[in-house]
Amino acid sequence: MRLSARAVKLSASYGMFRIAREEITTFENVVVELEHEGVVGIGEASPSAYYHGENVDVVMETVEAANAHLGEDPFLIEDITARMAETFPEAPAAVCGIDLALHDLVGKLLDVPLYRMLGLDPDKTPVTSFTIGIEEPKVMAGRAAAVKDFKVLKIKIGTDRDEEILSAIRDATDLPIRVDANIGWTKEQAVENINRLERFDIQFVEQPIPPGDNEALRWIRERVGLPIMTDESSINLKDLPGLVGCVDAINVKLMKCGGLREAIRMIHFAHAHGMDVMLGCMLETSIAITAAAHLSPMVEYADLDGNYLIADDPFAGVTIDDGRLILPDGPGLGVHER
Ligand code: MG
Repeated sequence: MRLSARAVKLSASYGMFRIAREEITTFENVVVELEHEGVVGIGEASPSAYYHGENVDVVMETVEAANAHLGEDPFLIEDITARMAETFPEAPAAVCGIDLALHDLVGKLLDVPLYRMLGLDPDKTPVTSFTIGIEEPKVMAGRAAAVKDFKVLKIKIGTDRDEEILSAIRDATDLPIRVDANIGWTKEQAVENINRLERFDIQFVEQPIPPGDNEALRWIRERVGLPIMTDESSINLKDLPGLVGCVDAINVKLMKCGGLREAIRMIHFAHAHGMDVMLGCMLETSIAITAAAHLSPMVEYADLDGNYLIADDPFAGVTIDDGRLILPDGPGLGVHER
C-alpha cells in the first residue's frame, strides 16, 4: 500500500464564511490517495488550526510519514486506524484522510458502497441543515429566504446582534432553525441569550461556551428550555464520558475525531448514554461530506453541507433531495472528480 497527498485550493461560497471565532475566505484541503494493487482509495483532510494547530503542511508530512505504519493488508482497518491515531495524535484531519481513503479502497476491493460495508440502510439518512455564516442580519435573512433544496437551517450566532439576526431570519422563513454560538458566550450570557432566543422556534443550541468546563454546560442546561449540543467540547471519544448528564447531544465531525472508526465509537457511546448525535463537518469537498453521509443512517441529525459552503467543489458524491441526504451507489465512498 502507498499513501500520497495533494493540496487543493478552495474558496468559501459568497467569498467568505464567518463564525463567532473565525473568518474563512480561501484555504486548502488535502486529498489523500491510497494505492493497493492498482486500486486507489480516496480520502480528504480539512485541517483546522483551532484543533492542535493542524494545517496543510502538517497533513502533508503526516500522510507521507504514515506510509511507514500502513502494513500490507488494507482489510485490517481497525488496526491501521488505531496505529495512525496513536502515532499522530495531533493530526486528526490527516488521520481522518487516511481512514477515509482506507474505507474507500476496501469498498472498491469488495465492490460495495460504504453504507453496505457498514451494514446501514441508505433509506434512513436524515435531512441535513444548510448553514448561514455571520453577516449583516438582512444579508443572512436574504440567504435564508433563498434556500430551496434544504429543509433545516443552521444559523451561526454568538454576536452582540443575535436577537436581530434571528428576528430577521424568522421573518424570512418558516424552516426549522438550529443555532451555533461557536464558543461565543460566557455561561451567564448563554442562559440569558438562549432564553431570549427560544421564542424563534429553535431546535437546539450548539456550543454556547468555550470547551473545558462541562459543569458550566450542565449549569446552563438546567436553566434553559432548549436542548444543548456540544461541538468544540466533543472532539473524540475520550471527551464524551465527562459530558454525560451535562448536554443533550453531541456534534461528531470526522475531521476532529480522526475518521469513520472513531465516529462510530462516539455515536455508540452517545446513544448508550442517552445523548443524540449530529454528524457535522468543516468546509469540505464532496469526498469527506459523502463519507460522513454514509454514516448518517446511524444518527438523529446531519449538518453535512460543507460541499455547498465552498465554491466549485472539484468532486461529486452525495446529493440532496427534498433536504435529505441521498447516498451514491458506487463502490467505496462512491465519489468521483467532476
Ligand atoms: Mg459547531
